[in-house]
Amino acid sequence: MKRKTVIRVYGPVPSRRLGYSLGVDILPFKTCTLDCVYCQLGPTTNLTAERKKFMDCLPILEQIRDSIDSKKRIDYITFSGSGEPTLNTELKKCIRHIKSFTDIPVAVLTNATLLGRASVRKALIEADLVVPSLDAAEQSVFEKTNRPHPSLRIKEIILGLEKFREIFKGKIWLEVMLVKGFNDSPEHVKKLKEAVEKICPDKVQLNTVVRPPAEETARPLNREELESICRQWGDLCEVIADFKKLRQKVLSIDITSEVLAMVRRRPVTLDDLSVSLGKHKNEIIKHLNALLDDKKIKTREHKGNTYYEPV
Ligand code: SF4
Repeated sequence: MKRKTVIRVYGPVPSRRLGYSLGVDILPFKTCTLDCVYCQLGPTTNLTAERKKFMDCLPILEQIRDSIDSKKRIDYITFSGSGEPTLNTELKKCIRHIKSFTDIPVAVLTNATLLGRASVRKALIEADLVVPSLDAAEQSVFEKTNRPHPSLRIKEIILGLEKFREIFKGKIWLEVMLVKGFNDSPEHVKKLKEAVEKICPDKVQLNTVVRPPAEETARPLNREELESICRQWGDLCEVIADFKKLRQKVLSIDITSEVLAMVRRRPVTLDDLSVSLGKHKNEIIKHLNALLDDKKIKTREHKGNTYYEPV
């Protein structure tokens, strides 16, 4: 039986931080070590800290090669997507293979929760840029904000980040997401700053909740609050929150249902869905992959385009 085509590589999509970024998703939707209150992908359906081969890297590498062959501008090949990429034990192999056929730099967006493990630090060692996130410096704040797998301890994660800094030759841009009433008390922000100083990243990027979060209670800091913290944190720190998104009228929709409804009306492409729903392609693709995994939709190739249609 022919395997269904699941798109694991999307873009390149323009990204404020990474230029034109080719996204690579190596996990089933939504597999993560955390269930952050602010997650724009919605609740974590597979909360796990067990690393395994979630999917083979070879078909993904083929999709990456195809994208490179298309001659579109790609500034970074970026592992991100439906959850925490370091959970997939194929990550190291994927990065190594990519390095064998292209000079395009490789970035990995990670929540850093598994960096306490030497095997995970080694898996990331050949990347050019690692963008870890760290939202808490205390276990109680970690549990409230990131709702981790019960085995995870924030102290070990911070120590893992410090150890990774010692061995990693590439750049580390540490992202800190501040959520009103969760991790933004002055005492906690001070502790976070101390942790950041120990980690010594190349940049610290402050963010807040500007996209629709998993929980309505996850609210943003305002620009002044974020900029004030940024000034206290020094020259390496910058605010990356896109406050324009907050001003945009956010449609309260269940994106997966909307995607399914559109697919049921007529065969559609990723571009069609992105334009019609007013959502970024890399957000839509995660919902498409979830529907493909659930066998609610299937793909059909037609004149070089991939169409989605109901099963
Ligand atoms: S780590 Fe990222 S993908 Fe996982 S729950 Fe948090 S925001 Fe979502």
